[in-house]
Amino acid sequence: MSQTELHQLSVAELAAQLRAKQVSATEAAQHFLARAKQHQNLGAFVAINEDATLAQAKAADALIAEGKGGKLAGVPIAHKDIFVTKDFPTTAASKMLEGYQSPFDATVVKKLADAGVVTLGKLNCDEFAMGGANENSAVAPVGFDSAQPVRNPWNTERVPGGSSGGSAAAVAARLAPAVTGTDTGGSIRQPASFCGITGIKPTYGRASRYGMIAFASSLDQAGPMGRSAEDCALLLSEMCGPDLDRDSTSLDYPAEDFTARLGDSIEGLRIGVPAEFFGEGLSDDVRTAVDAALKEYEKLGAKLVPVSLPRTELSVPVYYILAPAEASSNLSRFDGVKFGHRAARYEDLNDMYKKTRAEGFGDEVKRRIMIGAYVLSEGYYDAYYLQAQKIRRMIADDFQAAFKDCDVIAGAAAPTTAWAIGGKADPVSNYLADIFTLPASLAGLPGLSLPAGFGDGGMPVGLQLIGNYFSEAKLLNAAHRFQQATDFHLKSPVGI
Ligand code: GLN
Repeated sequence: MSQTELHQLSVAELAAQLRAKQVSATEAAQHFLARAKQHQNLGAFVAINEDATLAQAKAADALIAEGKGGKLAGVPIAHKDIFVTKDFPTTAASKMLEGYQSPFDATVVKKLADAGVVTLGKLNCDEFAMGGANENSAVAPVGFDSAQPVRNPWNTERVPGGSSGGSAAAVAARLAPAVTGTDTGGSIRQPASFCGITGIKPTYGRASRYGMIAFASSLDQAGPMGRSAEDCALLLSEMCGPDLDRDSTSLDYPAEDFTARLGDSIEGLRIGVPAEFFGEGLSDDVRTAVDAALKEYEKLGAKLVPVSLPRTELSVPVYYILAPAEASSNLSRFDGVKFGHRAARYEDLNDMYKKTRAEGFGDEVKRRIMIGAYVLSEGYYDAYYLQAQKIRRMIADDFQAAFKDCDVIAGAAAPTTAWAIGGKADPVSNYLADIFTLPASLAGLPGLSLPAGFGDGGMPVGLQLIGNYFSEAKLLNAAHRFQQATDFHLKSPVGI
């Protein structure tokens, strides 16, 4: 295998070659580290530590030589910088955590390490995962001396989506065969869609949140992002499983081999098509690509069934009340005492808190803390927070009603393809663009985005598949069958 082709291999292929000793973990790590450097203009990485990566690769090679090592032995991946890691700094893309070094690995990081992966570094994201364009990062990516928006490898003038924008850009640019991301309201599915890759958010509670810097705890979930459903299945199988002692919302539900059912036929699969996902806001080019993808599913034997998710529109105000409410509480821990940044000059304790937080948090984070504190305050709690909680329940009930008639639900992952950097300057237009990913997040359901074609300007379009609780295997199977019949997931941006 020539070195230049290593980055074209899927996770499955690379793992097989590593096991067969056709390539060493050290060679693979060196190859991808060189690519990260070559494409650092994208701003995808915020931390690289070659010594740590090569030490992990050496350890993987030793295990492989002994015939040991997990399923992913020697496969290089990278983590969204929202997971704490002991070999790399962790910032959550915030000035607040600049220079922070975790003494331990997040559960998801540790589980993947136990499966043998080698960590290439940490990936850029929106500050504390708040955003949908990766323009809210407050830290300088590797190779830069100031914060930069991450660039979409398909067109570097466009955003990669967010908040896992560095993750999506890294996979699309072949800087890592697969990566981790997190999804609170769409942050795996939407950037996967914008960058032409596959990503899945599991059922809430299946992947441990321990060591994942909290944004909105009742929504946050970790998941893999890769080129194909098969690669995502390989990673997700290692990421899920109970972590009851460390995460109070972790589910006591067994880990699963998500690759086991990938080959199943989807003959007779009922795909629910909610009218609310095909309304006015959907751009023509995305609609055309999604319609064509649904036709392809019909060719594969699936049946399209009209369903209704009547509260889809309400998911935006509901999410933008509940997520900031939880964020305002979670982010109270950043007070200059225990973690990260502390103002250099202050008068008394209160002044220290104020200055530390004023300096440490970016605008979007401050906006959310203020909204959250407002909706939780006496007098407004009943009018906003409580109402939103009630509608959240109804949104979850709507899905259960829809799943009486279908096995999975399909629609666009986002109303448009990736927009221009700086193109959506006001927060509300960013929030509205989350409309298709928020419902599944609020209901705690698994959701996947897979490459479904290309829209105007050759920008990727993602098809979202949403399943009922614990239906990750079904979603991955449905995506895999589509990928066996199409080649959208194999296309790479020009110059990559
Ligand atoms: N775009 C959404 C937000 O800004 C979702 C972010 C996420 O899933 N982390 O809150």
